[in-house]
Amino acid sequence: MELRNGMDLKRLVRTIPDYPKPGIMFRDLTTLFADPAGLRAAVDEIVWPFFKAKAQIDIIIGIEARGFILGGAVAHELGRGFVPIRKKGKLPHKTIGQDYSLEYGVDTIEIHADAIKPGDRVLLIDDLIATGGTAVAAAELIHRSGGEIVAAAFIIDLPDLGGTARLRDKGIAVHTLMEFE
Ligand code: AMP
Repeated sequence: MELRNGMDLKRLVRTIPDYPKPGIMFRDLTTLFADPAGLRAAVDEIVWPFFKAKAQIDIIIGIEARGFILGGAVAHELGRGFVPIRKKGKLPHKTIGQDYSLEYGVDTIEIHADAIKPGDRVLLIDDLIATGGTAVAAAELIHRSGGEIVAAAFIIDLPDLGGTARLRDKGIAVHTLMEFE
C-alpha cells in the first residue's frame, strides 16, 4: 500500500504461514510497529479521517493486545483518553463482559463498568479485522455501556472473512489501511 508520504506500509507486515495453526497466514505487525517511520505513518493514516472531526470523538477504545499499541498512540495524537477492552479476568475493577464465538468454543472480553459515560462518542481501534467477531463483541460492550461508536479503525482488513461488512451492516463506519487475502 503506497501512502500519501510515498511509504509502502504493507511491506513492513511480516507473514508467518501456519501460525498459530495450520492454514492460518498470521499477519505479524510487530515488524511494522518496530519501524519508526512505519509506526508513525500507520498512526497518522489511521488518525487522518478523524483529525478534523476530532471534536466528535470523546474517547479511544482499544482491544487487547495489539489494539493497545495502536490505540494509545491514536489517543495521544487526537488528544483524547484511552480505555482498554481486555480478555476476561484482567481488569481490576467492576466489569461488564461479552461472550463471542470462536472457531471452537467461546471467549469473553470485558470493559470497566464505569469506563464509558452515557453518550460518549467512541473511536474503536484494533490492529486487524478478520471475521469481525471480536470487534462486534467490543461494539456490543460499548453500546451496553451507553457509548456511541463514531467509527472503527484497523491497520489490516482480511475482507474475505467478512468482518468489515459485518460492522458496516450494523451501521458502523470502518476505516482500514490495507487488505490481505
Ligand atoms: P476476528 O475476531 O476474527 O475479526 O479476529 C480479529 C482478532 O484476531 C484481532 O485482534 C487480530 O489481532 C487477530 N487475528 C485474526 N486473524 C489474524 C491473522 N490472520 N493474523 C494476525 N492476527 C489475526
